[in-house]
Amino acid sequence: QAIYLNKATQLAKDIIKKVVKSGDVVVDATIGNGNDTVFLCNLVGDSGKVYGFDIQKKAVMTTIKKLEMENVIDRAVIIEDGHENIDKYVKEEVSAIMFNLGYLPKADHNITTKYNTTIEAIKKGIKVLKLNGVMTIVVYPGHKEGFEEKIKLLEFLEKIDQKYINVLKLEFINQINNPPFVLALEKKSKDVVF
Ligand code: SAM
Repeated sequence: QAIYLNKATQLAKDIIKKVVKSGDVVVDATIGNGNDTVFLCNLVGDSGKVYGFDIQKKAVMTTIKKLEMENVIDRAVIIEDGHENIDKYVKEEVSAIMFNLGYLPKADHNITTKYNTTIEAIKKGIKVLKLNGVMTIVVYPGHKEGFEEKIKLLEFLEKIDQKYINVLKLEFINQINNPPFVLALEKKSKDVVF
């Protein structure tokens, strides 16, 4: 069993840990069971703020409960709406945004992220990222929608000029069955053109 290089979600957290400081404002674009939301709340500390998005009531309820149990609910703004509407709620600049795509484990697998709204959310997310802010995206190409999402996301991200954003792909090249992988973006210019 690997300890350091076994999970895409852990690799995304390792990147985020390097970037987020106490007092920062950040976004969890897909709260799900709230694991990343709690992780982000702990990183930003008492004076920071975490916006969390999900379209499923179940995810919202589970996450709120988890944040209450961890005593960090005061740092979070939980929004039951799609991340593609991020611009309606997040008016300040943020240092990091985490996406964990796909569907909620042990819930309705039909409620999954879809490439068109994901790309819209990524574009809007890049707008609210501050200079040198970072976005991580964990992609799950092992199911049908996820595979399509992977193709469209890569198509979009590969075309962004490197003078605006550095785009990194971290993937396990010897795992079978389309394993999850991580995309990480660092904003290098205030005026990004897509
Ligand atoms: N990060 C979560 C955790 O730590 O438990 C897991 C997230 S789960 C893989 C993906 C989540 O994205 C699901 O809960 C799903 O409801 C949500 N989702 C799907 N479409 C969405 C959208 N347009 N906006 C926000 N969330 C969405």
